[in-house]
Amino acid sequence: MTNVKLFLEGEFQDSQTSEWIDVTNPATNEVIARAPVTTEAEMQRAIESAGAAFQSWREVPVPERARLMMRYQALLKEHQDEIAEILSQETGKTFDDAKGDVWRGIEVVEHAANIPSLLMGETVGNVGRGIDCYSYTQPLGVCAGITPFNFPAMIPLWMFPLAIACGNTFILKPSEQDPLTPMRLAELFVEAGAPKGVLQVVHGGKTQVDTLLTDPRVKALSFVGSVPVGQYIYETGTRHMKRVQSFAGAKNHMVIMPDADKDHVISALVGASVGAAGQRCMAISVAVFVGEAREWIPELKDAIAKVRPGAWNDPEASYGPVISPAAKARIEKLIGQGVEEGANLLLDGRNYEVDGFPNGNWVGPTVFSGVTPEMSIYKEEIFGPVLCCTEVDSLDAALELVNASPYGNGTSIYTSSGGAARRYNHEVEVGQVGINIPIPVPLPFFSFTGWKGSFYGDQHAYGKQGVKFYTETKTTTARWFSSDAVAGPNFSIKLD
Ligand code: NAD
Repeated sequence: MTNVKLFLEGEFQDSQTSEWIDVTNPATNEVIARAPVTTEAEMQRAIESAGAAFQSWREVPVPERARLMMRYQALLKEHQDEIAEILSQETGKTFDDAKGDVWRGIEVVEHAANIPSLLMGETVGNVGRGIDCYSYTQPLGVCAGITPFNFPAMIPLWMFPLAIACGNTFILKPSEQDPLTPMRLAELFVEAGAPKGVLQVVHGGKTQVDTLLTDPRVKALSFVGSVPVGQYIYETGTRHMKRVQSFAGAKNHMVIMPDADKDHVISALVGASVGAAGQRCMAISVAVFVGEAREWIPELKDAIAKVRPGAWNDPEASYGPVISPAAKARIEKLIGQGVEEGANLLLDGRNYEVDGFPNGNWVGPTVFSGVTPEMSIYKEEIFGPVLCCTEVDSLDAALELVNASPYGNGTSIYTSSGGAARRYNHEVEVGQVGINIPIPVPLPFFSFTGWKGSFYGDQHAYGKQGVKFYTETKTTTARWFSSDAVAGPNFSIKLD
């Protein structure tokens, strides 16, 4: 068992803390490491070091910053399997899924390597006589990121590469449940040539986050996690005059029109609902069957019943255990509430066992039908391998249902009608829409644009919005005199 280190002042170092958090393998519940609860003195050192590093890093030419990202991207690719193995063991993800987690992070680093063109400003010549106007971007200073357990490679990589490529320095506080992957990402960043102090990694929970939220030297904070914490982060950070982007929980609907291709629908729903044990913020957790499409529910249930969870190194396993015994207990409790509140439990994943792993946090694939919006299983984000099926009579009713949800992260429509797809896409109040695509996570040259209760803030992650989030725009109006003639004082605000 190893003690996870802090990454402070450019060094991987032991924490002086007396409080530690166990990191477990969710397939066995064995403790594989301990993460330090960073002391307040260590938090202060992280902020000071990031502040000092900013003074020199902001002056490093933009193409040099881009080259750091190119080297980092190459190293991440070279070490993708090794990172995925660490990731699998602390999250329980299957090896393939863990590789996907790393890969979607690598794509953001590729995006960050384009930083010179992403930072380009605007210019208009002759906005007044002999006067030119131009805008360009400058970094903010020290930025911080707080990340969730479910994507320990991808989500840190949503944040620090782009922030740092923009010229900021960054303090990462990863999930205390799986800190080993982010530490490996930090080691490779150093190997790529990241200067001392540009990235710091601290560990812990609310106390450490509160320091980052309230310290005036931290200029911007990016958060991904659950709704209550996301709201707290947004309210507290903005009250302390920081720029905040806060990505929170979700409940994503797939609308299935009767003219959709049934085989495509069933195949897409199986992976999108119970894949990754349902622990994805873009998982489909509600299937909305329109009209006669409801007749496909038994066949869907049979397809999901064939899915088998297992340990990360079992090539036949479709998904792994959920992250902790507490997560498993919560999911099983919600399944029980679903039954009590009158939903039909077509497939029950409670008390699931996997041979050879008696202590794992297993939840088998679970399917409900007859789910209505008043039920707890509809309202709450279950974050487990549980699909809720509901039925409506028309596209109008489907739109009304989805738009009444407080969440707005992702949605999908399956149909062969361009008219229905176009109308759904146009009228649905959700920020990321898939048309015959179950999980429409945008690639990093777009932005990750959740809406409503799934996102608090203005500028979203990566893409052009990520660059805006991590920079200020400076607009300069300039005149160079070509004669000694003085026009005299101008008493109006109009440019001559
Ligand atoms: P979480 O909210 O429990 O934890 C997220 C982070 O916040 C962790 O680093 C944790 O240490 C910290 N934290 C926890 N309690 C805190 C508090 N009281 N004050 C300050 N910080 C605190 O979330 P999780 O269980 O790790 O992740 C799962 C959640 O994340 C799900 O709700 C999922 O939908 C959401 N998520 C959303 C997106 C998105 O893009 N919208 C992406 C991934 C995950």
